[in-house]
Amino acid sequence: MKICLKNIGKLYLVTENPNVHYLRGKDMKNPFCLENAWLIIEVDKILDYGFMDAPFTQEVNEIIDCNQGIVLPGFVDSHTHTLFAGTRDHELIMKLKGFTYEEITQNGGGIFSSVEKIKNTSENELLEHGVDYLKKMAKNGTTTVEIKSGYGLDFENEIKMLKVIQQLKPFVEQNVYATFLGAHAIPKEYKNHREGYIQKLTQKMIPYIAQEGLADFVDVFCETGFYTPSETCKILECANKYGLKVKVHANELDLSGGVQVGVKYRAVSVDHLECLGAEEIELLKNSQTVATLLPSTAFYLRLQYAPARKLIDNNAIVSLASDFNPGTSPSFNMYFVWILACLQMKMLPEESLTALTLNAAYALRDTQVGSLAKGKIANLLITQPIGNLSKIPYFFGENFIHKVMIKGKWVL
Ligand SMILES: [Zn+2]
Repeated sequence: MKICLKNIGKLYLVTENPNVHYLRGKDMKNPFCLENAWLIIEVDKILDYGFMDAPFTQEVNEIIDCNQGIVLPGFVDSHTHTLFAGTRDHELIMKLKGFTYEEITQNGGGIFSSVEKIKNTSENELLEHGVDYLKKMAKNGTTTVEIKSGYGLDFENEIKMLKVIQQLKPFVEQNVYATFLGAHAIPKEYKNHREGYIQKLTQKMIPYIAQEGLADFVDVFCETGFYTPSETCKILECANKYGLKVKVHANELDLSGGVQVGVKYRAVSVDHLECLGAEEIELLKNSQTVATLLPSTAFYLRLQYAPARKLIDNNAIVSLASDFNPGTSPSFNMYFVWILACLQMKMLPEESLTALTLNAAYALRDTQVGSLAKGKIANLLITQPIGNLSKIPYFFGENFIHKVMIKGKWVL
């Protein structure tokens, strides 16, 4: 089965070289692009491309006229907490009415309300919620997704979450990655005995998860009031020992030390980074650890945005993700992330495109997606005929995604 997309106004391959797995610093603004082009997909892979004035000669089963729309790789969302039960919109209303975080927590809000809900939700129900969200994400252009556990905070419920993430896979089109985030918060019952929970994580949970193949990554919430850098070290060291790659939630609330720990343990990415000093920038400068920025969270919580410009100007590998979760970023919309990246963090539309696709795939160390180089998986979007990418942040209330393909199949 071969499909040809013709009359593509701009075909953003991002990179033509299947062995280029990221673009860093100043290279981010130059994703590889062909104007007035065609692209052929064979089954689920990119087969070939060229210019319309040198038309394709191959026989194909189907021709789609893109009418000068832009074609780009599908979004890769490398940081989500998609598996949760219920919603927390009542907390938003409380916030709007001026209630403090403490008052909201006392009224049954905050992360522990999500923990409570996970305990009381069956695997089947969780699976249904997860599939439902992933289908919506696909229609919005998200073609690869990472999902974290972290609302269980005990052996049984963390494992339940990870198992459901594995069970989701046959029901959705996207490739799904699982991340163990048992170190999301300190469970209430360990408030005065933190060391006990760290031991449980390192001696029981991580070894079991590695042995059962339940997760691809281990993540730690390294923030003041959550996990300290030395606790984070212990957890990451254990993950490394069991052959699991690591990620860190770092520097959302202050200079948490999370970037230092992440780089030390060769984290595939450090995520959030709203608060960065000169030392952190220096560390990320030439590092293979991806700086993943989550502007939807800053938008929803009215936090300062991460210093994207500083990171890019200092040669970091920057990626963008949604941080979809019920408390601090109830939006999985990567197209909206793109707009925020441009309008609030001063990233150029092309830099943002690189960050949403190729660099995001590198934050998962997935070398099969993120670009439209030959042989890569056919995950792509077609936009309406908007001429150039600058229309995306400019007409920020409109959505120009016209069609979405995952592994050679149309999902929109
Ligand atoms: Zn997160």
